[in-house]
Amino acid sequence: MPNRGRLFVISGPAGVGKSEIVKKVLERHPDVQLSVSCTTRQPRPGEIDGVSYHFVDDARFDRLVAEDAFYEWAHVHQNRYGTLKSVVQAQLEAGHDLILEIDVQGCLQAMAQDDTVTGIFVCPPSRENLEARLRHRGTETEESIRVRLNNVARECATAYKYHYIIIHEDWSVRPDALEVAADEVYAIINARRRTLDNNRAFLDELNRSLKA
Ligand code: 5GP
Repeated sequence: MPNRGRLFVISGPAGVGKSEIVKKVLERHPDVQLSVSCTTRQPRPGEIDGVSYHFVDDARFDRLVAEDAFYEWAHVHQNRYGTLKSVVQAQLEAGHDLILEIDVQGCLQAMAQDDTVTGIFVCPPSRENLEARLRHRGTETEESIRVRLNNVARECATAYKYHYIIIHEDWSVRPDALEVAADEVYAIINARRRTLDNNRAFLDELNRSLKA
């Protein structure tokens, strides 16, 4: 039977680039899997049911909540999102390391209910950098920039509850910022694989054979 996989939750403020970082990790390391969540939001153009998300209606989401089918779930921007227990169990039992790229509430739930979960928070390098990025888009009003910065402040205040902090540097300062952040996430995953607890069965077997 394969060793059980490990669970990693990744969060960070909108626009910090966490999806791109996770995508890069998955591209480079097929040994890491991403959980597909359920959501009540409508699919965006190009999104595929069962790949991007499992798109479900409110009634189905209600039934899944009633059946206690979710490992965690949360309201995010007027919609509901949740990770199925069945998905987590199947992946971990198959020995795969699994990333959940979910909102802050979901990460905090996962870390509170299971102390083997590793929490990774992705931060912008500074307030100035984030503000400049929002202004650079040219699509945001002063009011919406203020609202977004307030949301980021609230989210970054929860970062103390995570195990690891990744700073996603600005690519104009550091052109390989995305690769660096993805390497750091993978280094965390690999370090978790190398813990004593993860290698006890192997060590027991090695020591048994050495004594024989
Ligand atoms: P989007 O609708 O842009 O794909 O995602 C909106 C937000 O929902 C993102 O912050 C994303 O990380 C979060 N999210 C996606 N899936 C889940 C999930 O299963 N659980 C929770 N708690 N948040 C999720």
